[in-house]
Amino acid sequence: MGAPFTSVLIANRGEIAVRVERACLELGLRPVLIASEADRAGRATPGEGGPLAIGPSAPGRSYLNQAAILLAARVTGAEAVHPGYGFLSENADFAEAVEAAGLTFVGPPAAAIRIMGDKIAAKRAMMAAGVPCVPGPGEPLPEDAAAVRAIAEEIGYPVIVKAAGGGRGMRVVRESAEVADAIAITREEARRAFGRPELYMEKFLEHPRHVEFQVLCDNHGNAVWVGHRDCSVQRRHQKVVEEAPAPGIAPALAERIGARCAEACRQIGYRGVGTFEFLYENGEFYFIEMNTRLQVEHPVTEMTAGVDLVHEQLRAAQGAVLETARFAGEARGHAFECRINAEDPTTFVAAPGRIAAVHFPSGPGIRVDTHVSAGYRVSPYYDSLIAKLIVHAPTRADAIRRMQVALSATRIDGIATNLALHERIFADPDFVRGGVDIHHLEKRLREEPRGEA
Ligand code: ADP
Repeated sequence: MGAPFTSVLIANRGEIAVRVERACLELGLRPVLIASEADRAGRATPGEGGPLAIGPSAPGRSYLNQAAILLAARVTGAEAVHPGYGFLSENADFAEAVEAAGLTFVGPPAAAIRIMGDKIAAKRAMMAAGVPCVPGPGEPLPEDAAAVRAIAEEIGYPVIVKAAGGGRGMRVVRESAEVADAIAITREEARRAFGRPELYMEKFLEHPRHVEFQVLCDNHGNAVWVGHRDCSVQRRHQKVVEEAPAPGIAPALAERIGARCAEACRQIGYRGVGTFEFLYENGEFYFIEMNTRLQVEHPVTEMTAGVDLVHEQLRAAQGAVLETARFAGEARGHAFECRINAEDPTTFVAAPGRIAAVHFPSGPGIRVDTHVSAGYRVSPYYDSLIAKLIVHAPTRADAIRRMQVALSATRIDGIATNLALHERIFADPDFVRGGVDIHHLEKRLREEPRGEA
């Protein structure tokens, strides 16, 4: 694995397809873009040419259609496949199919994706590498309710019951009388969502922050961590604003955790970029999961670490040796990212439609990752992210002011967006102080639903 290639099929859409396309061009690689019917029709300037038609609008028949994507690679002579994020990016079978077709998958080996896709296997691998995990056994829960209660008592209430298959159907349990029902319901949900009933249990943390570590690995056993990010500003577990570095983390602690993440990568034979997600509470880190792909919020790390993660990802896939020394040193300045979504500002429901006019800010320390322009039609078929507004400045306070100004200079006409929500967040004294927990935004929205305050 890890072979030279000169052309890359980008198996994705939206802003990330544009982001990867540019990185390919910068490295002298030929990008091959694909698009569903909805995306072909939605372009601001439809007509001849453009991305290759991959199938109907429904994701299952286009961006998730493995056979169609492999065929597209064959007919266009692409030698590698970049999966972006979402869709097939964490699908081990797809990674395997790409390699079996004689192409390079721009991502980790299928085996590493498979381990991290199984929450119990992932937790066990992390424990083995000395990465701190949420208290609780890295073992499937037994069938017997009394045995499960004993585990819960050992951990100490409240606990959370989670499916090995993924985040669907988690349940918080606060006392032993709730255990039996919680297990039965969550098991059924897991069986339905993932086709497998295994559950595990860990301590439920009441007020954590979400802090994650970016790693970068080559095919030759070199691995480094390249900074951390705070993604605690969330609504319904969806990240809204991210920043790098995470504020208030002691450098020595970050170094220790980052080094453990890099070690875990070496142990599982990781390659490319990846993210270790942690809950952070009372000065301690607790691993929750690894994302084996490029993240939506990767730009804040790029700005502060001075690295192009997509370039590095492509180079690693080509078999290049990672010059780990380049990544030593502290973060430079501070960066924020606002995810701009086409959505109703009060209900948060996706609000597709045609963008009549759009203006994004520019200037020092401002970056906009987007695929939209005036005339673009936001499709109801896909997620509602239309742009990422990213700022970088010498200090966190400077970056906050820069984002406030950048937000006020952003205009998107014709569709509803969450721009006002971002303005509220950047005017919130708790957020400005730094270090809010993952419940903060929802709490604010409950207190002041329309943002009168
Ligand atoms: P997913 O696969 O959905 O991302 P995760 O295990 O990452 O599943 O959990 C999703 C979210 O659930 C986390 O971001 C966090 O908000 C919450 N969560 C998970 N585990 C815990 C825990 N032990 N204590 C408190 N909250 C948790």
